[in-house]
Amino acid sequence: MKAEIIAVGSELLTPDRVDTNSLFLTEELNKLGIEVVRKSIVGDNRDTLSAAFKEAMERVELIIASGGLGPTEDDLTRETVADLLGRKLHLNHEILRYIEGRFRQLGREMPAVNVRQAMVPEGAEVLENPRGSAPGLWIEDAGHFIALLPGPPRELKPMYQERVLPRLLRRSSKVRMFHRELRVAGLGESGVEQRIRPIYTRYTDVNTTILAAPGEIQIHLRMWTDDAAHAQKTLDEIAQGFEIALADRIFSQDGSSMEEVVASLLTRNNSTISAAESCTGGLLAQRLTSIAGSSSYFLGGVVSYSNELKTAWADVPAELIQTKGAVSSEVAIALAEGIRRQVGSTLGVGITGIAGPGGGSEEKPVGTVHIALSHAGGVKERGVVFPGDREAIRWHASQLALDLVRIHFLYNGGEPPSRIAKRA
Ligand code: ATP
Ligand code: MG
Repeated sequence: MKAEIIAVGSELLTPDRVDTNSLFLTEELNKLGIEVVRKSIVGDNRDTLSAAFKEAMERVELIIASGGLGPTEDDLTRETVADLLGRKLHLNHEILRYIEGRFRQLGREMPAVNVRQAMVPEGAEVLENPRGSAPGLWIEDAGHFIALLPGPPRELKPMYQERVLPRLLRRSSKVRMFHRELRVAGLGESGVEQRIRPIYTRYTDVNTTILAAPGEIQIHLRMWTDDAAHAQKTLDEIAQGFEIALADRIFSQDGSSMEEVVASLLTRNNSTISAAESCTGGLLAQRLTSIAGSSSYFLGGVVSYSNELKTAWADVPAELIQTKGAVSSEVAIALAEGIRRQVGSTLGVGITGIAGPGGGSEEKPVGTVHIALSHAGGVKERGVVFPGDREAIRWHASQLALDLVRIHFLYNGGEPPSRIAKRA
């Protein structure tokens, strides 16, 4: 079954409000194997609202709308849908009593406008709303299922779970959505696309989307089928193809974040880590400690912004900073080795760079970052010029630092056998 979602409300067309209901509904519908093929956001206008429902009915079987069930003049969903389907509205006395009761509990009299909320289109089923005044409506019309739900998420969500889901379960087929997410670091969107395109285009029954997120690319594979074994086999096959194409650039195959992956590597290897950060201002430490249980691997670190504190706290020789400059591979290495020595951790990370917007030069443009990882067997260093603004550069730097740790464990402290995938 295919579905569309219509989010009703002029406020959703302003910069102040986001339609989150459709995200919730999409996730829920996908679990049932119902594909959401289109979402619309429509203001409180009878004509556009009517057109949105009419067009959706031409395309799909299931339409779920949120919002516009309130008592005021601009809440038009109920009337518009009744009109479109040619159904009369009747006053439902039970709902009216319920709404009156709610107002009485609050010590108030029900305003006359609230009577509108007790109007039910002919043949519609009422979806009770114990958390609000407006009940939802379930309408079946010539092979279509239409659910009208209230806008407030705290009313919509339970109403979906308690009233809509059971109705959908009765009707849904055995088709389910199977989903796999792979995350890639150190490659851009087009780099990923180029490498995996020849693989995923062979699978016409799998929907592949490539999403760029800060410092990483997320690949989503979605497949709708009633054959779970077939889905697993197909998704495994594609993921294996991607592994060959992207090699060690894939850092996660279960949706886990870079810091989660690194945390689990450090834990599994009984390793500890420390960090001396300059341009990232503690972002690496923040990300490493964002995982519960981080005290077992993160011992501590310093934000050594000034040259003096690079020397005082991370043991970086002052002459080195003078001769090579604070942003240099030598200083990154000295930071990593210094903090590792000071703290006594298995690994030490040093980060120094120019996050901008000022401070760049021809030789060292804004975005220049040096990152080093010191370990018992030696030190690894990467010098990169990251694109983007200050925030992006700092994030990229923390991401690459985490990725260096990941790669360190992947190859047992050695270098990768062949760098198939070059850094973007
Ligand atoms: P009410 O009886 O509260 O008026 P309603 O069904 O008329 O219910 P709306 O008036 O459209 O709903 O919205 C009520 C509240 O819910 C508003 O604060 C609105 O911002 C929020 N809301 C509406 N639609 C959405 C949506 N799609 N996603 C997230 N919040 C929403
Ligand atoms: Mg309203």
